[in-house]
Order: sequence, then C-alpha cells, then structure tokens
Amino acid sequence: MSIALAPRATNLKPSVTVAFMNRAKAMQRAGKDVLSFAAGEPDFDTPACIKMAAIKALANGMTKYMPTLGDPDTRSALARKLTIENGIPGCTPEHITIGAGGKHSLFVACHVLLDFPAPGQPKQEVVLPVPAWVSYAPIVELAGGTIVEVETTVATGFLATAEQIEKAITPRTRMVILNSPSNPCGTMYSEQQLRAIAAVIEKAAKTIAPNLVVLSDELYEKIVYGGIPHFSIGSIPAIAERVITLNGLSKAYGMTGWRIGYTGSSGEFGRAFTSAMGTLQGQMSTNITSFTYPAIVEALANAGPEVELMRQAFAARAEAINARLNAMPGIVNAKATGAFYAFPNVRAYFGKTTPQGKKIDSAMSMCEAMLEEAGLAFVPGEDFGGVGREHVRISFACSLDQIAKGMDRFEAFLRSLK
Ligand code: PLP
Repeated sequence: MSIALAPRATNLKPSVTVAFMNRAKAMQRAGKDVLSFAAGEPDFDTPACIKMAAIKALANGMTKYMPTLGDPDTRSALARKLTIENGIPGCTPEHITIGAGGKHSLFVACHVLLDFPAPGQPKQEVVLPVPAWVSYAPIVELAGGTIVEVETTVATGFLATAEQIEKAITPRTRMVILNSPSNPCGTMYSEQQLRAIAAVIEKAAKTIAPNLVVLSDELYEKIVYGGIPHFSIGSIPAIAERVITLNGLSKAYGMTGWRIGYTGSSGEFGRAFTSAMGTLQGQMSTNITSFTYPAIVEALANAGPEVELMRQAFAARAEAINARLNAMPGIVNAKATGAFYAFPNVRAYFGKTTPQGKKIDSAMSMCEAMLEEAGLAFVPGEDFGGVGREHVRISFACSLDQIAKGMDRFEAFLRSLK
C-alpha cells in the first residue's frame, strides 16, 4: 500500500546528534563497552528546590490550562531576569513567550518571522555563522526561509566577523542567527565583537534590510568559564527592538527533559512579535505543562548556587579536555570557553585506514569507525555546516574520569590509523 506522507516531513533530515547518541545507547544496552560523548545535555540532575516547586504546584492542583505564553508571575520573573541580568531595555512581561523548550520557541519564532515567497520570488534569507547547531537550518527551511552560511574556522575560534556578516546581508535578509556560547564550537563572542556586529545590523536595517532581526540563542549563557563574560546583543539600545533573545532552562539548570524555553524582546516590535507568538502557539501547543511555571520562578530565584557548582565542574572538564586534545598530534582545537563541547579539527587523519581496514575520509567515517572499533561515540561535524565536515563534536557533559578514559581511547584510535 502506498499512501503519501507530506514531503515537508519526509524530506526532513533526522538529527545526527540524536542518531549517534541512540546508537551508542543501543550498543551499551547490548553489553558493549562504549563511552559516549554524543549527548548535548548536562549530566547533572535538576536541583532539588526546582523539583520541589513543581511537586508542590502539582499537589496544590495547578493542573489546568494556563495563559498560552505563560502565567503572569513567571513571565514577570523572566522579564526581570532579562532586564537585570542581560540588560535588555524595554523588556516587560508582555515581551516574554514561554514554550516547550528553546527548540519549540525557535520553531514558533521562525514561523512568526519568516514566510514562504510568492511564486517566482526568492526566499527570505537567514544569515547563520557555521558550524552551527543542527536544528537551525531545518527549522528555518520549514518556515520558508533559506540559510546563508557565513563560514568560520577553528583558527579564529569559529567566530564570524562583523565584516563577514555585513557581506552576507542582502535586501532579502530577514534574520541573523547568533549563538554564543556555541553548540557545537564551545566558543563565545566578546562584548566588543557583538557590538561590532550590532553596528552592522543597525546600518543594514537603515539601508538595505529594514525588516532585519537578530535571533540571539543564549541557551548556554550560564556555562561560561574562559574569561569571556556572557553578553546579550539585545542589550544594545540601538538594535534592542530588533533582537529576539532565545533562552531556556535545559542547559543551565539540568532540565532538558522538562521542556522549558522562552523568548524575550523589546519595544513596539517586540510586543507585536510576542502577540503573534501567542496566536501561533495558541493554535499549536497552548501553554507548557502548567505545574512547571513555579519551577521556573524557583530556578531563577534560588538555584544560583547549584548552577555555579555545575559551571565549575564544566570549567574543570573543559580544562582537562582542552589539555588532552592540544597534546594530540594533528588535532587542531579551539579552546572551549563556554557550553560543554570541544570541536576539534581531525582532517590530518583523513586518508588513513583503521586496523579493521576502514578508510577514514570524512568526520562521518571517522565517527562510524571509532564507534564500531574503539567503542567511542563522538558526533561527526558534517551536519553542523561549513568546515564542520572536518571536525568531530565531543560533548564533555560527563565525569573527569570518563573524559580521561575517552581521551585515552581517542588517542589510541588515532595512533592505530595507518
Ligand atoms: N539552542 C542550542 C544552541 C542548542 O544546543 C539547543 C539544544 O541542544 C537548543 C537551542 C534547544 O534546547 P531546548 O529545546 O532543550 O531548550
């Protein structure tokens, strides 16, 4: 029987990160000795005070439909956070949308900001420094846009310059996506670099791209340890109204399974954006799980000490993994300063053959062989775009002991290649 499915869904690329994570898990379940560095989630449990807030709300009967974009207390707490911590001007509770994870909020935002072109017209362009998180391109394309890649390399810490962004912006550009700290690169933009990019955005918006907006993905803002303070581009008054700040609780609070994301914006445009988000989300998922709202308020108010402990652990792990990678011949690594990823260049090993006779000619073939022959799961970099094809992503959301063992295995695997 052949009954069609929508090409929109069937043509979508499944996430390579999830694929490798699941393969590693399946091998572990089958009793194989596999060390996995594939998952993009903290290994820490959600702090107890956050869990208790949700349990209390559930016990108290907070089990009904809620306002689509979130209850007023939680939206107020998030607006306060973005105002005080991130310095975003003009961000009120009416500028906050709460969705079922940063990914969901990004999905809804893209459908609010992008559209399909009229017949014969070009698509709206979304400028994206690459390598970048694997979900941006599929989500943008589902909403009718097309990605314009800005290529970055390990030599410059994978950071796009203001000049590169300026060159990439055309009258068709609708959005620039920035992600600092970065998944998969583990690097961050400084305030100075973001100010230079903001100046380019301001100029382009006044000249060729009046509808230009910046989507600033700050999911990893709390996981910083390299001496570069996190800076929100939405705090720059000249472009604040054009910036949608995307964030969530997944990475900062060990809450990936809770599915809590949010956006904050500013000014008159931000208000219109938020209202459209509400309309679209209202026809999609409505509110997030009702009894998690008090947990968000609790996380923001009282989980700071736990977040700091997690940050310190990630800092020590980054130090350990950077030192090991830097000592491996042929591996070129940009020091991670944020998030929990290393993204080394492994091109020096392309053209070599594994002990079992597999030819390594790409990041994908290296990761395949490493999983099968060495019991080590990294994520191949191809799907992150650009020069990612020469890189592997190593998530160090695991113990120092696992990092040491994993790096021993990686080193031995590289040495075994002929
Ligand atoms: N943005 C980046 C850069 C990410 O790496 C992720 C998750 O991996 C997300 C957004 C979305 O996270 P969540 O949907 O769990 O909030």
